[in-house]
Amino acid sequence: GPVVTILIGMAGSGKTTLFHRLHYDAQEKGRRCYFVNLDPAVLEVPIEPQIDIRDTIDYKGIMTEYKLGPNGAIVTALNLFATQFADVMTILEKRKNDYEHIIVDTPGQIEAFTWSASGQLIAESLASTFATNVVYVVDTPRTSAPATFMSNMVYACSILHKYRLPLTAAFNKCDVADHKPMFDWMEDFEAFHEALDRSSQDSPDGAGYVTSLHRSMSLVLDEFYRVLDRVAVSAVDGSGIDELYERMTSSRAKYDETYGRELEQRI
Ligand code: GDP
Ligand code: MG
Repeated sequence: GPVVTILIGMAGSGKTTLFHRLHYDAQEKGRRCYFVNLDPAVLEVPIEPQIDIRDTIDYKGIMTEYKLGPNGAIVTALNLFATQFADVMTILEKRKNDYEHIIVDTPGQIEAFTWSASGQLIAESLASTFATNVVYVVDTPRTSAPATFMSNMVYACSILHKYRLPLTAAFNKCDVADHKPMFDWMEDFEAFHEALDRSSQDSPDGAGYVTSLHRSMSLVLDEFYRVLDRVAVSAVDGSGIDELYERMTSSRAKYDETYGRELEQRI
């Protein structure tokens, strides 16, 4: 059967652009991929996903009917779609021999999917049926400050613990930012501490408690980095996409080892 990849990341990190890039690349290279859009608010449609929340859920209508702001309407739309998700699973299962990948885009605001009941239901439905993995999209240019980088990695770590699925960090926008310093920080926490020291020199906190907190947290994160797959990509120019597809494919073995086994134990 196919490998399911769920794209998760902060708003603006480039999930949807990457979703489109993965689609374009699949067409170019004859990869058999099935695309699922779970963002009810996405406007641009350069591609047509096979399954699209917008086909059955009227996001604008929800905003007016329930008098909700954009974020509330996204959560409500996801809740409504979750009630139909058994039908989606039926479709996916019927077609499971036709595809190598099922790729899922999630709403802009990360919390809407990651910490909502409906997001959890959707992810668990997928993960209990298919080998599923998470690609955590990182906005590389906006993560270049050591403290910001660490917050982002703490978030990624919390997602790993919540989903207990194989996780790859895709450092996106590498056409405009250099990922190498960050990859070095993950290899070597002393390099990270040096970067922290340099940046704290210009901060009002100086060598205060925040910096010292960051130092201790980076030791904890060191464990996480050891299991974290990472790849530098650009959704805009297409670099790193082959490697990302390789990671998505090879996540199956990790899924079988971890989630698959846990599932057996639960049954
Ligand atoms: P989402 O909220 O995570 O779905 O992010 P979007 O895909 O909507 O992208 C947010 C912004 O980042 C848009 O202006 C994109 O054009 C831009 N963007 C996304 N990927 C890349 C990339 O690889 N390189 C550059 N330079 N910009 C990107
Ligand atoms: Mg998006």
